[in-house]
Amino acid sequence: MFALWNDLLNLIFPPAPECPFCGRPGPPGKACGNCLAYLEGFRREAHCSRCGRLPGKGAALFGRGGTRLCGECRAREWPFALVRAAGPYEGIIKEAIHRFKYAGRRGLAAPLAALMAEAARAEPLLAADLILPVPLAGEKLRHRGFNQAALLAGEVGALLRVPVDRRVLVKIVETPSQAGLTRPARQTNLEGAFKVINAGKVCGRKVLVVDDVFTTGSTMSAAAAALTAAGAARVSGLTVAAARFF
Ligand SMILES: [Zn+2]
Ligand SMILES: [Zn+2]
Repeated sequence: MFALWNDLLNLIFPPAPECPFCGRPGPPGKACGNCLAYLEGFRREAHCSRCGRLPGKGAALFGRGGTRLCGECRAREWPFALVRAAGPYEGIIKEAIHRFKYAGRRGLAAPLAALMAEAARAEPLLAADLILPVPLAGEKLRHRGFNQAALLAGEVGALLRVPVDRRVLVKIVETPSQAGLTRPARQTNLEGAFKVINAGKVCGRKVLVVDDVFTTGSTMSAAAAALTAAGAARVSGLTVAAARFF
């Protein structure tokens, strides 16, 4: 009843268009000038050439000029070529992701994807033949009702004009026995968590994996490992946000 009343009110008094990030008046479904300026500021900050993360307080990048790496990327080899995010996992982006993911605001997929597409266009190595969302295991999908990465991938694919395949990469349900494992053992376990259903679809192709947040990188890494094993020519990643590194 309340919803119906709300619909009626919206019909008589259409709500003023507002920025999906800050809620201030602005063009409908798009970041307003203020939010765009705020996000552009991050793009000028020095980030890790490999994982794309920005340094947190007290953290520093290694190297000068062309390639700058965070401590982790300097110390280890990832199965992906590089990952980029539209911005750091904080402030308006973090809030928008939470509303999108946990409050079910699916309408945020388009404005978030617009930011991602912009980040992708700025990085030639993200150019891809195929976009794949990070899949959710069946249980999580049933609980949430939608896969946020799949919604984002669909929008990003439309904006970049790259085909999206939601079926080729799948997540095998994790067993509860993982709980007692040490960190390295968990990582090894997660590395086997993704499976490529049809290797012929990714073999020799440049693949872009889409997810909402890049934090430790273990999800992106596990997905990239499965795709590389299936013969992908290059795997890169694109997320809405990335945690800062320390
Ligand atoms: Zn705004
Ligand atoms: Zn890095």
